[in-house]
Amino acid sequence: MALKLERFVSPGKGDGLRAKQRVKAGDLLYTAEPLACCVSNRCRNGVCHSCFSRRETLLRCSQCKVARYCNVTCQKQGWSAHKKECKYLVSLHPRIPTDSVRLAARIIFGLLCPSQNTAELYSLEEHMSHLCDMSEEKMEGLSHLSSVLQLYIKQEQHEIAQKTPPIDPVSLLAKVTCNCFTISDAELQEIGVGLYPSMSLLNHDCRPNCVMLFQGKTLQLRAIRAIQPAEELTISYIGVLLPTRERQTQLLDQYHFTCQCQRCITAELDPLMLCGVEEAWTPLKEALPRLENMQTNGRILYKRINWEELLLECSTLLTPVDGAVPDSNVYRLRVTDLALDSCINLAQWETALAYGVQTLESYRQYYPDPHPAHAIQLMRVAKLQHFLGHLEEAQHTLRQAYDIMKITHGNKHSLTSDLIRKLDECRAEMDGN
Ligand SMILES: [Zn+2]
Ligand SMILES: [Zn+2]
Ligand SMILES: [Zn+2]
Repeated sequence: MALKLERFVSPGKGDGLRAKQRVKAGDLLYTAEPLACCVSNRCRNGVCHSCFSRRETLLRCSQCKVARYCNVTCQKQGWSAHKKECKYLVSLHPRIPTDSVRLAARIIFGLLCPSQNTAELYSLEEHMSHLCDMSEEKMEGLSHLSSVLQLYIKQEQHEIAQKTPPIDPVSLLAKVTCNCFTISDAELQEIGVGLYPSMSLLNHDCRPNCVMLFQGKTLQLRAIRAIQPAEELTISYIGVLLPTRERQTQLLDQYHFTCQCQRCITAELDPLMLCGVEEAWTPLKEALPRLENMQTNGRILYKRINWEELLLECSTLLTPVDGAVPDSNVYRLRVTDLALDSCINLAQWETALAYGVQTLESYRQYYPDPHPAHAIQLMRVAKLQHFLGHLEEAQHTLRQAYDIMKITHGNKHSLTSDLIRKLDECRAEMDGN
């Protein structure tokens, strides 16, 4: 397949990618396997370390007891990437290095025995490490990580020293932390981290023209709007349900640049995101980091979290703001999302649906272009409507989700197939009534 994109120098931003030809919304622009990847530590017990499927029961690597696989086939396929790592995991047991250390080690092991030559637009050597932009605190954290990495790859030290160009663990780790992508599942929950070198060329925009999705660990880049030849391709590095100041702080802190995109310059969505009485929404804003952390623990770690407690906290926060803070306030929206998730986990379907419906208008406003997060929210609501027998509404919501997903996921994605199946079920039940 001829590449629809090319590398270029983006004025004011350095390297970037741009379209080589006219592109339609929904066009698949690039698909890639990672140069290296690993399942995130925090979900390592629930995700296959080879194909990245989420499963309830997985086989455990009998040596390190850390890696897990769907079956023997997956284990065999994952062995070449795991072989060296397995030995070190055994020696470090019960400690497990952080995700970035494990990913960096996998890259080093890969460099020591290069197998296939992949055609990348951007090589690892060229990747930015941003070492000089880092705060002292970050540098300290990095050198600590690098001492763990050195320990982790100790027996390879001799080979590493002889490598040209030389491998510098600190700079490699910095590159990994600045350039790795979070690999997420169909529900957009984190399952791993990976390095996809060419994709590191993509610059950020708070209203991007492309989205990145994963099928297993295969990355797919799709256009979500029509793009003209020579127009720069962009993705969003961060979640967009944040007002301008918070987006800018996060981008500077994590990616070392000040965003100057149109959405940041005009701050167009801020009045809507921050609507309502400030004294009334401040407690919501302040409670969110802790509450969202609780949710992550429950969703990703399969930790027994107290959904009842989370729901109670959310409803206690939400009740007094009624009237003072509109639904579209971004903190109210995020707390409502947490309440929705808690209700689903507690099988309180009617209440879940009420919370879900409350969020849809805001999702529509904050995602003017097709976006996976919007489609997933619609699907969540549609499933509740379907389950509760509101068939016509369910069908309507599913169709809205489909209109987004045919662009963001494409018709061949497994989630799109799930959605089409749900639509058929709905139709059949309506005909039966
Ligand atoms: Zn598998
Ligand atoms: Zn192992
Ligand atoms: Zn921006």
